[in-house]
Amino acid sequence: MNFPIDKIRNDFPILHQKVYNHPLIYFDNAASTQKPEAVINAITNYYRQDNCNIHRGVHYLSQKATEAYENTRKAVQTFINAPSSPEIIFTKGTTESINLIASSFGKKYIKEGDEIVISAIEHHSNFVPWQVLCQEKKAVLKFIPVTPGGELDMDGFRRMVNEKTKLISIAHVSNVLGSVFPLKEIIKQAHQSGIPVMVDGAQAVSHLQVDMQDLDCDFYCFSGHKMYAPMGIGVLYGKEKWLDEMPPYQTGGEMIKEVFFDHSTYNELPFKFEAGTPNVEGVYGLHAAMNYIQELGLLNIAAYEDELLKYATRKLMAIGEMRIIGTAKNKTSIVSFLVGNIHPYDTGTILDKLGIAVRTGHHCAMPLMELFKIPGTVRASFALYNTFDEIDVMAGAIIKIKQMFA
Ligand code: PMP
Repeated sequence: MNFPIDKIRNDFPILHQKVYNHPLIYFDNAASTQKPEAVINAITNYYRQDNCNIHRGVHYLSQKATEAYENTRKAVQTFINAPSSPEIIFTKGTTESINLIASSFGKKYIKEGDEIVISAIEHHSNFVPWQVLCQEKKAVLKFIPVTPGGELDMDGFRRMVNEKTKLISIAHVSNVLGSVFPLKEIIKQAHQSGIPVMVDGAQAVSHLQVDMQDLDCDFYCFSGHKMYAPMGIGVLYGKEKWLDEMPPYQTGGEMIKEVFFDHSTYNELPFKFEAGTPNVEGVYGLHAAMNYIQELGLLNIAAYEDELLKYATRKLMAIGEMRIIGTAKNKTSIVSFLVGNIHPYDTGTILDKLGIAVRTGHHCAMPLMELFKIPGTVRASFALYNTFDEIDVMAGAIIKIKQMFA
């Protein structure tokens, strides 16, 4: 495959350092990705040249920053092929996007006895907001069962949906197992019964080409920092018909049209959901990150990362006494595993001392760990700058760890 890996690695300054005297191998990309020079420059150039509050000033800097901010909204629209740009709301990230829906959609549409369906495999961010909402509204939270390989039990899903179901909220890609869920099937089935579907796309947008018009989901959430952009910036896409009817999530400046002593009227979309001064530097960084991804092409990135995942899975399985947690047919960029009986924390700590950054533990999915009856996993998650050589080094390190514990 002709993937410009040397050039890409040069674009990411942080990768070129030693950790405990070993070259850094960064396999914690599902937690957060590193940033290319183009993103770092976009942020520093914003503060050097454009810094100003937006939407409020008549002066040059304010107009320049406002234009860049709104252009990024259009760029996000193109990036995810959303029907229109007012359907793109800037948030702090996936967690805030989901909380926005749980709070606002929940206030308007969820009543006692209603049901919300999620899966047993969700990140706490797509779990706890619904749990709390259901407790507040005396609604019922239901969980699509998961197969031992980490796929959704679709028969279980079909049995679960009924006239009481008011919302389905599901990850696009599991942050623990890398499973890609059959969203189109879920959405089609839900829409036949008039049920809206929210998608947690935190682990998808940097690995798969996502297309709002093709998926036809009602809401889609993601975080910039998992797609080479800064922390503290994220997106909520929502269909206009829902966002128009939903009440504001936060109130204050920018989200109002007029304020009187006894009441206020609200701004139009998307501003109704963007109260207060937004993260303008984050939006500049996000734009640069999307440009970076688009220059390489998501299909090329996906193909390269798929090769990395297959190679890593083969290499790890060849070691022996390895348990791969999550063997879905459709997977991307994440391999979760256990080495013999060694506690994942021990494996992760020794890998770290050898310069290899992986994540260990429950990965913010404690119910899934309970279901699988494991204390946690070691998770290696790949990004476009990782290499086959790095996977070889990790496999060699695991062989050493096994010998140490033998
Ligand atoms: N959902 C999934 C699937 C995730 O992987 C994460 C981050 N680990 C989140 C939600 C939360 O994202 P953030 O912390 O950026 O809000």
